[in-house]
Amino acid sequence: MVQRMFGTNGVRGVINEDMNTDLALQMGKAIGKFFGGKVAIATDTRVSGDMIKSAVCAGLMAVGCDVRDLGIVPTPAIQYHVKTSDRIVGGIMITASHNPPQFNGIKCIDFDGTEMPREKEEKIEILYSGNIECKPWNGIGVLETYEGAGEEYIDAVLSHVDVDLIRKAKLTAVVDCANGAAYQTTPLLMKKLGVRAITLNADAQGEFPGHPSEPTEDNLADLIALTGSVKADVGIAHDGDADRAVFIARKGKKGYYMPGDKSLAIVAKTIVTDLGGGQVVTPVSSSSMVEEVVKAAGGSLIYTAVGSPIVARRMMKEGSVFGGEENGGLIFADHQYCRDGAMTIAKILEGIVKYGPLYDQVEALPVYYVEKRKIECPNHRKDGLIEYMKDTYSVGNKVDTTDGLKILYDDGGWVLLRPSGTEPIFRIYSESKDENLAKDRAIEFEKVANDFVNGQ
Ligand code: MG
Repeated sequence: MVQRMFGTNGVRGVINEDMNTDLALQMGKAIGKFFGGKVAIATDTRVSGDMIKSAVCAGLMAVGCDVRDLGIVPTPAIQYHVKTSDRIVGGIMITASHNPPQFNGIKCIDFDGTEMPREKEEKIEILYSGNIECKPWNGIGVLETYEGAGEEYIDAVLSHVDVDLIRKAKLTAVVDCANGAAYQTTPLLMKKLGVRAITLNADAQGEFPGHPSEPTEDNLADLIALTGSVKADVGIAHDGDADRAVFIARKGKKGYYMPGDKSLAIVAKTIVTDLGGGQVVTPVSSSSMVEEVVKAAGGSLIYTAVGSPIVARRMMKEGSVFGGEENGGLIFADHQYCRDGAMTIAKILEGIVKYGPLYDQVEALPVYYVEKRKIECPNHRKDGLIEYMKDTYSVGNKVDTTDGLKILYDDGGWVLLRPSGTEPIFRIYSESKDENLAKDRAIEFEKVANDFVNGQ
């Protein structure tokens, strides 16, 4: 039987429990058979990175693949390397992104630097579940190390912004790398942009001792306080593998944690304004704030199902200029079709110079209120609930079934009912410019859905 291995972000697990060297070795062989050529590999800063990487590399070489080890670099840096290196046919990032330090994971990167599509992961799973033939002694692969990938990636990022303009502004930033994969590249980006950088948690200590690596407001208290007290132009934080960046704006002597939908909206607005138009892609769960600012700037917007590879592939298909998710994962079409933390930082810094202080840009955004709820629903009743809610709410309202069920009201508000792919739950998101209305609709949906699930 073929085992499903890959989740939404690669194969992940707790070290020496469900993520161990046996699995990593077999994965290395399976991925090597699939790629059949030279593969790049990199890790974030987790203590288990070398152990898992060594096992994956052994598997790759056993089936005849040469391996190029890039060391510790952000996920978008190995993606850029795979995309731009002719002789590299694919990549593997050893990371568990924002998960706690006991986790690690194996994430595949396609030949063009994008996240591996599901159909290719399924082929690797089939190989993984079978017997994989290894090469004779004179057919095995060799390992080389390469140290330039981080700097080449940063130089590529710089080619997409006005470096002189940013340098002249002499900005100050507080940078929190969460002791993760960007501990070298983001300080380097600051140096090349002439930004005075005060760094926090910029060591490769592997155990994330500074704070947990998910860049939430609670985890970034030091960064928020410091951004205010040193009067920095911006505070910057990454998740563990630095495909995402989040920002702290400064309001007087205080730091203001910017939710990801606000940085998404600000960067979308900047890009569409600079280009004088263009199409933006975002999942149906994103705030209408993004749509409003993109349209006001002369652009258009399309919605997809949730998931960054889905957003990226739609952008490629449509020729869109920008895309992103509200968790701070932004995708820049002129750079590469994947979430990119350093590119996001460069654009935000350029935007501060061109369009004014970050907090002023936040204040200029339209205000929407979101109310979130969660209900339990057994997996076998999920389709039934969607049908029932659709029948109940479709009269007089627009319906969007791109991902779950989205009911769009005439007043601009909406409610999204989305099943979790992994748990027996539904998430309810209700958004409106009227705070009470957003709340009332969330409560109503929660009650109607719960009554259906409980058989009333
Ligand atoms: Mg990440």
